[in-house]
Amino acid sequence: MTTRICIDGQLTDESAARISVMDRGFLYGDSIYEVMRTYGGQPFALDQHLHRLQRSAQLLDIHLPVPLATLEQEIRDTVAAAANPESYIRFIVTRGTGPINLDPATAENPCRVTIVTPFTPHPEPLYTQGAKICLVSAGRLSGGAVPAGAKSGNYLVNIMALRAARQQNAHEAVMLDGGGQVSEGASSNVFALFGQKLRTPPLSVGILEGITRHLVIQLAQEMGLQMEQTGLTPHDLRQAQELFLTSTLREVLPVTRVDDWVVGDGQVGPVSLELRRRYRERASTRRDV
Ligand code: PMP
Repeated sequence: MTTRICIDGQLTDESAARISVMDRGFLYGDSIYEVMRTYGGQPFALDQHLHRLQRSAQLLDIHLPVPLATLEQEIRDTVAAAANPESYIRFIVTRGTGPINLDPATAENPCRVTIVTPFTPHPEPLYTQGAKICLVSAGRLSGGAVPAGAKSGNYLVNIMALRAARQQNAHEAVMLDGGGQVSEGASSNVFALFGQKLRTPPLSVGILEGITRHLVIQLAQEMGLQMEQTGLTPHDLRQAQELFLTSTLREVLPVTRVDDWVVGDGQVGPVSLELRRRYRERASTRRDV
């Protein structure tokens, strides 16, 4: 089991991997990134992740230093060099280095880093018992200077929300926007089941368009569920029979507690379980969503 790093096309070990302290990714979180994992040793949904990176780059006006095809090859080469049974993959592009000032126009040499490390799944009891989440007010999340939907390296809002949730022994923070609407988890999207209707907040609330979210919406429709992307309030969540989170690393994770109350009958629900089963089957048999 090994960790391998690729910096600007050069493969290296973790202990030897270095980037400049003048890099704006380090100084300001002025960077974009993606997280993927492998199934059967192969990256899942690589194409979707590369395209989301490209979209983030456009939204934040960060220059991609090499074509997507080169990035793809570097990612595949780093995964092959690590040769883990299953790998976690993070790739990052920063705005680069320059004099220490905020002006993005002074940045040069965007830096690209791929980190491949052994993948450790979340513990299975989390899936059989269901996770606890906390609702955390995170303030205004959309409509600000940072365009919604860009996956930037600046995660301080999410980190502090997760810190608050972890103090309540919760697995994940689910953030409420300035209007009190449910937005997304610190690193996940949220779904709620009401009868045969599955609801998830719309992209317009300023959430990240999760690649897992996208696939789960398709799978839910294939199961004959009615899908709705409409605003959710904490009050709505209380009426739900089932709640779950989606993300690349969690797949479909049932939620059985929110703050100090219990979801539905407190047990993991059948729809969450079936969606997880279908998601895993899909990820293990196809490379793309
Ligand atoms: N929202 C946020 C804020 C995230 O960081 C993530 C994880 N990348 C997600 C949602 C889920 O996205 P995905 O399904 O593409 O992993």
